[in-house]
This record gives sequence, structure tokens and C-alpha cells, in this order.
Amino acid sequence: MNEDVESGLVARYSVVRALAVIGDGWTLLILRAAFHGTHRYTDWQAELGVPKAVLSNRLERLVEAGIFRKVPTLAGGKRMEYHLAEAGLALWEPLSAIFRWANRWSDGATPDALWFHHTVCGHDCDLVISCDTCAQPLTPFNTFAVSGPGAGLEERIEAHSRRRANSASRHGEKYLGSAEVMAMFGDMWSSAIIASAFRGVRRFNDLVAYLRIPPLVLSMRIKELLALGVLKRKSVEDSERYEAFHLTRKGLDLFPYIAMLAKWGDRWCGDQSGAPLVFNHRTCGHEYKPHYRCSVCGGRVNRSEITLIGAYS
Ligand SMILES: [Zn+2]
Ligand SMILES: [Zn+2]
Repeated sequence: MNEDVESGLVARYSVVRALAVIGDGWTLLILRAAFHGTHRYTDWQAELGVPKAVLSNRLERLVEAGIFRKVPTLAGGKRMEYHLAEAGLALWEPLSAIFRWANRWSDGATPDALWFHHTVCGHDCDLVISCDTCAQPLTPFNTFAVSGPGAGLEERIEAHSRRRANSASRHGEKYLGSAEVMAMFGDMWSSAIIASAFRGVRRFNDLVAYLRIPPLVLSMRIKELLALGVLKRKSVEDSERYEAFHLTRKGLDLFPYIAMLAKWGDRWCGDQSGAPLVFNHRTCGHEYKPHYRCSVCGGRVNRSEITLIGAYS
């Protein structure tokens, strides 16, 4: 194993910081249940069949990350409940992007069907990721990132072990359409590879250098993303011939997920130095923070004003 890859420093990147917290299958299932009103250890256990040690470990990590706060139960005593704190509630943006994508791209789905209900206007709608300055839609083609005040290097963050996450994938079919989709969202590396592709890092060796991902792990994850139809292989003839991995239409539709992860990571996993990357909207020429707007009424959508109505929610 290349020593650089094992111990090197890596570019600060809010998406990867966010993924180090939520890029885990069980964590996604625990959070999903929490948004549906689950607060107690025993309820998660009963609902998800999650092994005790795994559940304790994930809850502890999520409390440490400020996503849950522990609250004594009304009955008193030593029993505690876990409530979503502000950082946890803010995850509705990347989580909605996950469920939107799963509903749009599951087998037999029609990508243009509407999976949300906007209680303010009373219509079923899509969530349109939009610029906070000009309110126009953001796409991978009308946005670009530049180094921000917090750019620099940091120690590589350790990913959750995939082996432990495997058991969570089996629940994927029920919640995200397939075990493969669950494996993608429940894995820090897969999402980090997709995020890099949006930044134009598409060659195998460039991905290894950018993410400091072990080459063996990278080839396994690329194989899975090709099989899912999120990436496609392109042979490029330049001064030399090389292979590049490009996002397909299905892959490009992960843009809201990656953009919302970056926003969450900037806000909740940052330090005093500021955002490692700042994002610009070509349409209006301003820096932007993404937010959702309703595709029907055009209004800005808040967490409490939206219900997910898809098969996978
Ligand atoms: Zn704009
Ligand atoms: Zn609306």
C-alpha cells in the first residue's frame, strides 16, 4: 500500500467532512427514523433491527457531532431520549435530496413525477435547488467552486468500515429502492467520488491524489457506481490515452445532494478559518448558498412546510 495514501494530508473539503458524520448506512436509517418521530433506543432497535453495539456507537457519534441532544424521558430516572438538535434538523436538506433521488431513479420510476407536497401552496411539487441571491435554479453547469478562506490541508478523516455497514444495506430496498442505492449513500467514499466528479476530478490517479483514497477501494467503488449507472467510462485520447469517469444524467441528478452536503458541512463541520470552498452562480455572478424552492409556487421552502409523498421516504 502506498504510504502517501495511508497517512497523507488531504484538501479540506466540507462534503467529505459531512460524509464522515452521515455517510454511513445505519446512520442514515437512524436519522430517517428520527425525522419520523423515533427518539428512544428501544424504538430504533425494534424498528430497524439494528445490533445493540452498532446503535449505541452511532447514537454516541451523533451526539458528539451535535446532531442529537440527550434529553431525560418524562418518566424520569436514567432513561434518555435522543432529540434532533439544530445541526440534526438542518440535515433535512441533504436527506430530502437522497430520498428525492431514490424516488426519481428507482426501477420503474418516472424521474419527473412529484415526490413532495408543499403545505403553503397546497400542491404536490418538486424541490428545486436554488440560489439564495437570485432565486434561480442551480445546476452543475451554471455553478463553479473556488478556494475559500478555509482552504488548505487536513488529516484524512477515517471512513466508517464498510463491513459493518453491509447489514444496513439489506434495509435499503425498503427505504431507498435497492441495497445498491443504500450502499452508495451509506458509504463515505462513493459520495466523495461523485462530489469529486462534479469538481472535474475524473481520472483514476487524480481521484487517488485528491481524496487520498486507497486505490483498491477506489476501483471497487467505481465498479459499483458504473453498475448503478451513476458514472460512465470515457476513453480520452490526448497526448496519451487515458480513462475518465463522467457523471451520467442519473449521476448529474445527485447535484442537489452534494450541494446540500457542502452547505451542511460548511455550517456544522467547519472551523474558524471559514469555508474551504465558496460556490458561485454564473447566472447572477454571486456567491451562493443553496436552498429549496417549490417547483409549483416558486416559494422558498422550509422544513416544516414540506412532506415527502414518494414510495421511499
Ligand atoms: Zn444566483
Ligand atoms: Zn408551493
